[in-house]
Amino acid sequence: MLTKEYIQEKKRWLEARLKGKAEILKSDGQTSWVHSEDDLIAHRAALARIEDGSYGLCMHCGGPVEEYRLKIIPETPFCFSCAQTLQN
Ligand SMILES: [Zn+2]
Repeated sequence: MLTKEYIQEKKRWLEARLKGKAEILKSDGQTSWVHSEDDLIAHRAALARIEDGSYGLCMHCGGPVEEYRLKIIPETPFCFSCAQTLQN
């Protein structure tokens, strides 16, 4: 279960990143900044889910998105297994 504080922290991070003020360390060790249109859309969608209370729930199966996933990709709308399924 995600705490309010945790979600608020993600919100601040997503907002900062949309403004180009936060960076993320990707799994391959590279830092990346929001730059593509897809990234912007994903970040705005994540903020919208925070507003409507569905943040942290998988948009595909409705189950909880793993916390470690949200840590790496706070804007992800899918849990690990759905992300795998949808990619294939
Ligand atoms: Zn899922």
